[in-house]
Amino acid sequence: MRHSMRLAWLTTRVPEHRLRMRGATALGVSLACLALAVPAHAAPAPNSPRPGAPGAGDPLFPGAGNGGYDVRNYDLSLDVTPGSYDYTGTMKVSAVATHGLTSFNLDTDGHTIDRVTVDGRPAGFRVTEGPGGGGEDGESTTGQELTITPKKPLRDHRAFQVTVDYHGNGKGDRTGPNGWWYVSDGGFASAVQTTRADTIAPVNDTPSDKATWNFHLTAPRGWTPGANGERTGKRPVGDGSKVTWDYELKSPMATELMGISVGRQTELRAKGPHGLALRHLVPSDQVELYRPIVEKTGEQISWMEKQLDAAYPFDVYGMQILKDGYTAAMENQTLSLFGPGWFRDADKNEEYTTTMVHELTHQWFGDSVTPSDWQQAWLNEGPAVYYAARWADEKGYEPMEEKMRAAYGELDDVRRTDGPPGRPTELGGFNIYDGAAVVLYALGQETGRHTFDRIMGSWVKRYAHGNASSADFIENAVRVSGDSSLEGFLTHWLYDTENPPMPGHPDWT
Ligand SMILES: [Zn+2]
Repeated sequence: MRHSMRLAWLTTRVPEHRLRMRGATALGVSLACLALAVPAHAAPAPNSPRPGAPGAGDPLFPGAGNGGYDVRNYDLSLDVTPGSYDYTGTMKVSAVATHGLTSFNLDTDGHTIDRVTVDGRPAGFRVTEGPGGGGEDGESTTGQELTITPKKPLRDHRAFQVTVDYHGNGKGDRTGPNGWWYVSDGGFASAVQTTRADTIAPVNDTPSDKATWNFHLTAPRGWTPGANGERTGKRPVGDGSKVTWDYELKSPMATELMGISVGRQTELRAKGPHGLALRHLVPSDQVELYRPIVEKTGEQISWMEKQLDAAYPFDVYGMQILKDGYTAAMENQTLSLFGPGWFRDADKNEEYTTTMVHELTHQWFGDSVTPSDWQQAWLNEGPAVYYAARWADEKGYEPMEEKMRAAYGELDDVRRTDGPPGRPTELGGFNIYDGAAVVLYALGQETGRHTFDRIMGSWVKRYAHGNASSADFIENAVRVSGDSSLEGFLTHWLYDTENPPMPGHPDWT
């Protein structure tokens, strides 16, 4: 994602959650001591059912996600009333158990849970406060835990479907940060990175568990819902005062990339390179303002495909531009979300296109190839900043070398205060954005442009629609280049507390 200037400034001055992190660590230590004092019991047989873990083990968000199952599909029905933001929802989660389960968790935040079934049978459930964690914008909690106890334990490898009926209010209290963004005309859109998807629906909120999605969004006639993927249907509900819009996303998606909305918005359709479907959502009273802007998408997709020698990874793409209520830009899968501020000077110059290229780059880096945990978010933001900088260089907005020289200088201190690009202490900082782009620039300086382009292209093809890690990135770079010294080279650049020297620029300090 890209923060607005103001948000970026805010994130640098919110140390509060670091204190809470320390508190959480202290608690962890005391719990460990307690555990030592408890007499040892015979370990259960490895295959006997047990509760699924309440967290997926993310280094930055320990409580986010859950263990014991693998989600294959999310099917979300959500009926939202614009203006009041009251909603009722039904989330059907199709999953497969990865060990025998006596109970398991979904992440939820701020919803009233009305009913839970497992394979159609009523299941026991309770909601408890989730554990804390560090991260972006002072996120100090990962929401709440919905613990579900099926009538009978689920055996390992078993496919099952959980249905959760819930309701709430989009502006209602949340334990963690909220993923609802409110437009002044009564509409809303979701931007849920990093761990806010649970404020929209109960989910397994970790980037390591990707799944296909179906959406059935209901709103009063006259309002247009949008969602990731392609629309597959539209049908009146009841007396016809409401309409349900169906969307399907065939490629697996991490929860953090969920992009749904209900707005006074208009869909603009076009064809992109090699017939790719493009659909954009813009405010209905600003269609002519935004039409020439969204029409630049096709050229950018062709440009990115050329950089990577890799086709756009999904079957549809587009921009969603909000009238107000949102200031950042977010790479929601197949439907990047933008606040209006990026386009304020669109009639004067085209530098705003760098932000479009940033979010477009994420469709390959982050959306198709998704880091296995949040501490490896440089794999998303590094390429997004790097390719936006290459675009800006080619278009004559800002020379790449100048940008990288300045970033190299700044990165040295940031490595010590916020962690190196490959091991940030929190998200949203310079280290995983421009700092990580400097790492990629250094790699290109070391290998030459041709080999660098082959490494990046191989990465997005080899790990398309899956998860990958920093170790995978290093291994891929060595394999593609045939140069084993890149292992040490990238390890230093990603993890050292000081900048290594920049190849080709011995004068950079
Ligand atoms: Zn980004």
